[in-house]
Amino acid sequence: MITLTDNVEDSDIQQFADNFFANPHVLKLGYGVDSDFRNLVSSCPLYEHAVTHLARFVDLCPLSKQILNIPSVRQKLGSRMRSISARERACIEEERGLSELVFLSLGLPLDKTYQISDWERRPLSEEQLIYAALDAYCLLEVYDVLKQWVVESRLRINMEPAVILSWLQPKKEKPRRNRKKEPRPGTRSNDLLPPARKREPIPPQSLRVVVDTMLQGLGQHLRCCGVDVVILDNSAADHARAVEIARTENRIILTTGLPYEQLRSKVPEGMCVCIPCGKTIRQQVSALIKYFNLQITAQDIFSRCQVCNGDDFVRVQQDHMRLAMGIFHGRFQAPLPGYEPKGCPVNLVDLTLPGGVPLKLGPLPEEVVEKNSADVFFCCSNCGKVFWEGGHHKRIATQFNYILGSS
Ligand SMILES: [Zn+2]
Repeated sequence: MITLTDNVEDSDIQQFADNFFANPHVLKLGYGVDSDFRNLVSSCPLYEHAVTHLARFVDLCPLSKQILNIPSVRQKLGSRMRSISARERACIEEERGLSELVFLSLGLPLDKTYQISDWERRPLSEEQLIYAALDAYCLLEVYDVLKQWVVESRLRINMEPAVILSWLQPKKEKPRRNRKKEPRPGTRSNDLLPPARKREPIPPQSLRVVVDTMLQGLGQHLRCCGVDVVILDNSAADHARAVEIARTENRIILTTGLPYEQLRSKVPEGMCVCIPCGKTIRQQVSALIKYFNLQITAQDIFSRCQVCNGDDFVRVQQDHMRLAMGIFHGRFQAPLPGYEPKGCPVNLVDLTLPGGVPLKLGPLPEEVVEKNSADVFFCCSNCGKVFWEGGHHKRIATQFNYILGSS
């Protein structure tokens, strides 16, 4: 986008956007596009006309919810869910969102491993390109399946409902008193965080925050730096929930734009911080590091599970992980009682960690386990997600170098 706006005439970009988004001859599919469109328009306002004149654009998120609720579809999916192992079911229920929909309609979950890789770096890696292409392509196949289910159900469901963009809905005007007009926090181009008073340096583990879904990417990034982050899973009605968590768990709310105005009066001074919008995640993280005077060391990177915020990992050696994968994929049988390999923390009968959490082996690529690309695997003892220090891990780790330099 940055290169585009530098090299292409504004009118050409606008024309392209109109020809694409507002083209009634071509059906476009997306999933959960509300915030995507908001980000697109805020980073390039030239798209605003096209985005406010969408034609034949379908958001599969609300549409699929409607279709998955059809009784005959629910019945079909119920038996599909029963046909898989408890392990796989736990994996799918944990992933949610598009990955869950892809599993329900196509029978395989979507691998989200690259979701949090560095998308600002160029050129993108081959894995990133494949991830991005799959993330889009799967919608075509999902849509076909959803259409088929609707046909089979003999119900009349509009397969091309208009997209409702929450941030474009007119807001109810309140009678204005003579208030001083101040720009909304987080909306000025240079609006970084409010000036911090001099704070004592703190390690990232002692910063406890809560963010809503709109700031999910920031939340995951902060977790990777060791910050204790609760991410709310529902953006619409959950400001009250953020306030409740802030109060009961003594967490600072990170939010942006309008919600900041609504939330800051509900929590004590300083317990609600406005994140500037229209900034990259790196810029937001850098600003937060400065604001809270966080001292992040190399040991903090990946000290917390980016999926569930857990900070306890079980180390599993490669040969034990290979065995677990073989059992998971049905190539080996679990060892008989008394014949378990020494020092293997995984229960190989039901593939769980000590404490009973199922290992998430489904998303783990076989070649990582087979090709000696990692000696040891770190398994989150809270959610079972498996991390490893392979090439991918190192590449992702280097994207946090900017943090180590700044604190
Ligand atoms: Zn976890």
